[in-house]
Amino acid sequence: MNVPLSRPSINEDDIDAVLGVMRTPTLSIGPQVQAFEREMASYVGAEHAVAVNSGTSGLHISLAAAGIGPGDEVITSPFSFVASANCVLYQGATPVFADIDEDTLNVSPAEIDHRITDRTRALVPVDVFGQPIDMDRIGTMARRHDLVIVRDSCEAIGSTRNGVIVGTADPVTTAVFAFYPNKQMTTGEGGIVVTNDATLAATMRSLANQGRDDNGSWMNHVRLGFNYRLDEMSAALGRSQLSRLDALLEQRARVAAWYTERLTAVDAVRTPFVAPETDRMSWFVYVIRLDDSVDREALMRALGKDGVPSRPYFAPIHLQPYYRERFGYAPGDYPVTERVAATTLAIPFFTDMSEEQVDYVCERLEAHTSRLTMTATARKQL
Ligand SMILES: *Cc1c(COP(=O)(O)O)cnc(C)c1O
Repeated sequence: MNVPLSRPSINEDDIDAVLGVMRTPTLSIGPQVQAFEREMASYVGAEHAVAVNSGTSGLHISLAAAGIGPGDEVITSPFSFVASANCVLYQGATPVFADIDEDTLNVSPAEIDHRITDRTRALVPVDVFGQPIDMDRIGTMARRHDLVIVRDSCEAIGSTRNGVIVGTADPVTTAVFAFYPNKQMTTGEGGIVVTNDATLAATMRSLANQGRDDNGSWMNHVRLGFNYRLDEMSAALGRSQLSRLDALLEQRARVAAWYTERLTAVDAVRTPFVAPETDRMSWFVYVIRLDDSVDREALMRALGKDGVPSRPYFAPIHLQPYYRERFGYAPGDYPVTERVAATTLAIPFFTDMSEEQVDYVCERLEAHTSRLTMTATARKQL
């Protein structure tokens, strides 16, 4: 059996929505984007939304609109996708990493506290794998030090913590969601920034649209902008997906539950932690943690031969070649992140995954982990 690592869930309504746009002359800057922004703002309980062509663009214009620039420090997580830190570099500011909590895998408020200096201007906390961050302590710090909070919620659309949906609830300045095809819902490429601050929303809208003024005057550029616009076909796909997002999230939760049910019995595998405060987990990926005795590389090779792709996830940002070279980071700098990253493995996970596919992945995983663990133990005894 060959099981994909990830796959978008596209139905006939999605296809009709895209084709409908293609039968009109308006392929960009039109009613689909406007409606998508309204509907997304309403879904996450925010006042304003600006649709963009990627989550990365959303992070970038959030920092740009907040005036983050050279000399400023921005604290984020080293256990994330590289965009969480790259957006800081785009603005000529300095990313500073704070280590994570070993259970939630989210950035640790205590570690953030240690890294705050008088140059710190913003925080980019990440809701890793869909698990909402505890914003209470982060909010207290942000108020004390007058910090902007750009919430990287690219993996957490629809998650709730203590009944509050991930979005712009105080103390968040902007929150960013992403819609690449491996996310919970997709627009192809795409993302959206939400905020309750009307001025910030207007500035971000301008930044994403070549720096045009509020009236959108075609040839009047009031600031250095970018072309980060989402097109009409993508927005139509996004609206169609958003209209059944709750059903998509339920299906994904069912797949995750199938996995957890089966893998709890597998000795060498730890299933994903879901915090008691996370009352709705929007499952982005299913990432297991392997016992130290398992040779992850050998396991990935063996699974791959059986048609089961898997990936180490994440590789720490501070150890990426570009960051090591530019900032001199080395192994040992963020011990919790490194310990976690050395044992995590993302296994096939997508909305339309069948119970048979989950069975097959678990059966292969169990067979190979017990074989590879035994080999290691046997090796030690020699
Ligand atoms: C997906 C993702 C992004 C944005 O990705 P794009 O490909 O630019 O849409 C940013 N941060 C995290 C943590 C992500 O998972």
